[in-house]
Formats: sequence, structure tokens, C-alpha cells
Amino acid sequence: MSDSILVLNAGSSSLKFSVFLKDSLKLLLRGQIEGILTKPHFVARADSGDIVGEEDWPSGTNLGHGGAVEFLFKWGRTGVLEGHGIAAAGHRVVHGGLEFTKPVVIDNHVISALERLEPLAPLHQPHNLAAIKAIMQRVPELPQVACFDTSFHRTQPAIEQIYAIPRKYTDEGVRRYGFHGLSYEYISSVLPKYDEELAAGRAVVAHLGNGASMCAMRNGRSISSTMGFTAVGGLPMGTRCGAIDPGILLYLMNQHGMDAQSIENLIYNQSGLLGVSGISSDMRALLASKDPRAQEAVDLFVYRIDRELGSLAALGGIDGIVFTGGIGENSAIIRARVCRDAKWLGLDFDEKANETGGPQISKENSRISAWVIPTNEELMIATHTKQMLLKKGD
Ligand code: ADP
Repeated sequence: MSDSILVLNAGSSSLKFSVFLKDSLKLLLRGQIEGILTKPHFVARADSGDIVGEEDWPSGTNLGHGGAVEFLFKWGRTGVLEGHGIAAAGHRVVHGGLEFTKPVVIDNHVISALERLEPLAPLHQPHNLAAIKAIMQRVPELPQVACFDTSFHRTQPAIEQIYAIPRKYTDEGVRRYGFHGLSYEYISSVLPKYDEELAAGRAVVAHLGNGASMCAMRNGRSISSTMGFTAVGGLPMGTRCGAIDPGILLYLMNQHGMDAQSIENLIYNQSGLLGVSGISSDMRALLASKDPRAQEAVDLFVYRIDRELGSLAALGGIDGIVFTGGIGENSAIIRARVCRDAKWLGLDFDEKANETGGPQISKENSRISAWVIPTNEELMIATHTKQMLLKKGD
């Protein structure tokens, strides 16, 4: 029986997946195949965390996205998933440009449109498409849905979406798109359950993980985000630099003879928490370290969140802050530092509630509220995929 939805998030070297029951959207299992081009390792876990499937390939094995998809479908016909046919696949797709303001059922026309967006997200879009094409080749009759990281931000005012560069570049697509949209959309969808007033008001959501960004929402819709043209802008992240003076890139080219590829590697893979600390991109490792460089990396992370909070709050005020993502959900220390610094916004921070993970971490009489809310991008994709199936009448 085709009673489940497969959710895929295809990266350059990994394929993350989850399987949900179509009707209840209950998670059946989740997992990933890592190192798909070099030394694949597959692991699948039930919702409980128990491992329900594991496999290793020898070093030098290049499964590619096609091979990884092939393996998943074969594996899915046995064991825990036996009897659970796939009704549709939902994909996380990084870039929907200006055209895709909501999820879409994939056909050849959509694939061509998404291929045209590849230059805007060369590090992600081709991999997202590789998984889509692999499924299309293997099971052409399976409905596939693309859910975009950019769509949620298309409600932003026009002025938020452009850069001060000559118009011809804006016209060819050099614009502020914003990312982490599926995470923000999920938070927006559950926020009324936590705080109805905030959901209807002006919320700043901080998605703090390996990738990090912030989004200002009004009445649940995006009005501004710290990421713009690519996912390297805005806040400093695990290995990404965030906003820097563009003159730095010219300096690196002129004084260090760096070309586009080495600059790309520097700003995406060697900067952020890793670059400043010289130790790790992992927040847990930095918080555990006594090395002053680790502390400075953490200080900079918090400082830049503070600055962006001020900048987003300047867009007509703020009624509350929501923390999410691996750091936002799990690090009481980072939340405490940001919240203490946000006293000027009228935040009366509840230290005790923060220690135990909230969800509310502001005191009752605080002028603005603060919350910890776990995100769930996979569930958002499964929800959209189910809705598209219903629309199609399946
Ligand atoms: P991604 O953006 O890849 O989805 P996550 O949202 O999983 O990443 O976030 C990963 C980050 O969360 C890492 O920097 C990790 O150190 C951090 N993190 C996870 N748990 C904790 C914790 N208890 N304290 C501090 N940081 C944490």
C-alpha cells in the first residue's frame, strides 16, 4: 500500500532522508547516506533513535546520487519499511528564484526552470536536482514535490529584496532571496500554539545551527532575513563568514592572488566559528574550550546576533524572539547571552526556564517574549507533499 511519504535532502556528499506515514504524518524513520562519492555509510533510525538499518561501502566507492537513491529504494522494500509503499517524494530544494513562491509538483518544465537557477546556488541546486532526476529515471510514475528554502521570503517588501548595484544585475537575478525558509515556515505554523499574540505580531526567529540566519516576521510572514543572495551572507556560521565587506574579496584577489574557487572555499568552508577559533566549527567544542580564540569566536557569534537583532527590530519594532536550530534549541548559554544583551528591547529573561529549555524563556511581565521552539523542516516538506498529493486527487 502506498501509505508513506519520502522526504529527501540531497547535499554534495550526503543524502538525508525521512519517511512519514502519509495520513498521520507520523515519522517512521530517518537517516542518511554520507560520503556518497568516496566512502558511503548508510544509517537509518526509527523515531525512537534505535538503529533500524546500517551499511558501509569500501573506501573509493562512488555511489553518486543515482546509486544512493537506488540503494534506498531497494532497502525500503525490506525490513521496517516492508509493506509501506511510497506515495510521493518531497525534496528540499535550495533555490526557487522569484518564480517558485510555493511548493510545486515536479515535471520536465519544472526541472528545466530549476536548472536555470543553478548558477544562483551552484553548491546546492545541482545536488538537489540529481536526486530528483535519479528518482524520475527509476520510478517515473512517482509524484515528486519540490519545496524551496527561498519561497517563504517572497512576501518581503520589494525594497528588502534588492541590492544597491546596477539594475541589469538585479534584473538577471542578483537579489536578496533569503534561505532557511522551510524552517521559518515551520516555526510560523506552530508559533500560534505557543504565543498567539506574538504569532500575529512582530517576531524575530533565530535559526542557529551549522548554518545560521535570522528572520523578521509580521503576522507569520517574512519581512526580512539576514541571508540574501546566497547562504553565506548574514550571521557568521560554523564555517561560513556571513556578511563581510566586499572589499575584502578584492583584497584577497589582488594581494593573495586568490581565484574564485579559493575564495569560495575560504568563505564557505574555512571561515566563521572555525576560522576565528582555528579549532572547530562545532559550538559544543568551542563552549568546552578554554582557548581564548574559541571564546572570541563564540563572542563574535553572539555579538553579530545582537547586531542583527537590533537591525531587524528597527523594522518597526519587535514583540518576541524565537530560538531554533541545533544551537538555538540546545545551547542555554548562547540563548542566555543573547537574551541578556536584548534587555534594551524590553526582554525580561527567565534564567531558570532557559536552563530547562523553556519553551518560554521570558518572564510573564516581560515587554517582549522569548521562546525555544524545535524546528522540523522534514515535517514541513512532508506536509507540503501531502497537500500537493491531495490537490492532485491521489
Ligand atoms: P545544521 O545547520 O547542519 O542542520 P544543526 O541545526 O544540527 O546543524 O546545528 C549544529 C550545531 O548545533 C553545532 O554547532 C552543534 O555544536 C550545536 N549544538 C548542538 N547541541 C548543542 C549543545 N547542547 N550546546 C551547544 N551547541 C550545540
